[in-house]
Amino acid sequence: MLAKWYRQYTKFCLVNLIGVKKLPTERRSLIMLFGANGDLAVRKLYPAMFKLFEKGNIRDHFAVIGSSRYKVDDAKYRDMVTKSVEKESSNKKMIANFASHFYFVTHDVTDLSHYSVLKDKADELDKKYKLEGNRVFYISMAPNFFGTVAKNIKNQGLLSNNSGFNRLVIEKPFGRDFESAKELNDELSNAFEENQIFRIDHYLGKEMIQNIEAIRFGNTIFEALWNNRYIDNVQVTLAEKLGVEERAGYYDNSGALRDMVQNHIMQIVSLLAMEQPVAFKDTDIRAEKVKALRSLRVYNVAEASTNFVRGQYGAVGESKAYRNEDGVPKDSNTETFVAGKLLFDNYRWSGTPFYIRTGKELADKFTRVDVVFKKPLVDIFSFPQSGKALLNANVLTIYIEPTQGFSLVVNAKNSEQGFHTEPVNLEFLEDSKRTKETPQPYERLIHDVLKGDGTNFASWPEVASAWKFVDQIRRVWDIQQPMFPNYIPGSMGPVSADELLARDHREWIYKLNQ
Ligand code: NAP
Repeated sequence: MLAKWYRQYTKFCLVNLIGVKKLPTERRSLIMLFGANGDLAVRKLYPAMFKLFEKGNIRDHFAVIGSSRYKVDDAKYRDMVTKSVEKESSNKKMIANFASHFYFVTHDVTDLSHYSVLKDKADELDKKYKLEGNRVFYISMAPNFFGTVAKNIKNQGLLSNNSGFNRLVIEKPFGRDFESAKELNDELSNAFEENQIFRIDHYLGKEMIQNIEAIRFGNTIFEALWNNRYIDNVQVTLAEKLGVEERAGYYDNSGALRDMVQNHIMQIVSLLAMEQPVAFKDTDIRAEKVKALRSLRVYNVAEASTNFVRGQYGAVGESKAYRNEDGVPKDSNTETFVAGKLLFDNYRWSGTPFYIRTGKELADKFTRVDVVFKKPLVDIFSFPQSGKALLNANVLTIYIEPTQGFSLVVNAKNSEQGFHTEPVNLEFLEDSKRTKETPQPYERLIHDVLKGDGTNFASWPEVASAWKFVDQIRRVWDIQQPMFPNYIPGSMGPVSADELLARDHREWIYKLNQ
């Protein structure tokens, strides 16, 4: 009690009397990491944890128990952790201090007898680091293990039973259709409450995705116009320049619809389409996202065939066709590109389509949202003799990555003789230094888990609605034979993606060679 009071007093003096920069609140927790020598842990999770450590969000009162079947001792594990964070800092002392919080337990998640070792270690570290019984269970393993591990965590007594918290972090993919996702969710719910489950969608950790809410709800000029009366259409593009690389085995079973649309794109769309939450907190935001997704029209067969198109890349020059990638069957019909039109049947959006597209081997790697406003109903500047409209649509573009920022196209008079309007671009782009300093998604997301903030994680009702929508497209595609390959690497996908908009007398705002 006295120690706690002293800590608070010291912090108060440092911040308020001596003027030291506000100290972050340290989050106390044990992180039990399953799959501790896997690709994700080494490439993303340890560097993210190190950043939190460096900033003081975790420091003295945290410990990690890494586990997998790998036979390695604490010293070797700490070497692995050290290596994975070396490029983050030149402060060797800081890195050594960070690594000293890591412990390894060789553990096969399917072997029940192993869990007691984990439990003993957890209890020991809880005392040693004064973790107050707070536990995060992070399953960074293949999805077929998610349910087993969650069940065993509960049944083998790993949950903290004193006043601390228990939180479960699950990587993607969350099922491969609604049925399998529900089965998995039922398994997880037997061990954890919904508010204890943090389903990772790393797109939600990106700076500019989080900025969608700030732009929408922090600015009258946008929120007042954010509806079908003023917005003609919304476009979301997640373009990848690379092909499947070494993920062919996984990808060929998944395809772009499951890999990108069901999760990342549906999350972005729901943030763009939702109503204003009562407060900026996870339960309120999630409630609005769910409401938006529930009003998304689930297509019948005819609508799915008309409103969604798919593609697969062929070969050009040196680059291989998808069907010739290592690990991909020669007759694969897996889509590497999807474009679609989404319709919300609600008061705000009825009649305003959301167009989405994503694909591999496209012209460039970027993610952006284009909000296309309606043109003025009367164009007083058009010349009656030509009948030509001169005004451009206002377009708000939210650049998500790699560029971060936004721009707004407005019409203005140009400075030439006579009266002519031209579109000008009001632009705010983060400079590359700021972009580099922006916390990476996993740093934000792990921090959110430690704070218990579920805002940037997918809740079960959101996941369920997204699967129900996507399953309907999949069902139609599974019975129709595609004409693959149908687009060349370096393009923006098949011609049918342009035709999808042309049918509605519209076009993609981002076009090749812009
Ligand atoms: P990974 O490299 O294959 O690692 C899997 C981990 O699971 C390894 O540590 C492995 O270690 C462990 N493991 C396997 N069977 C085990 C068992 N029976 N008992 C205990 N441990 C076992 O996979 P990853 O790429 O890190 O991906 C992990 C999760 O993150 C997956 O759900 C993936 O979909 C998701 N994800 C990954 C990325 C990425 O960039 N890698 C991106 C997004 C999502 P041992 O073989 O030593 O047991």
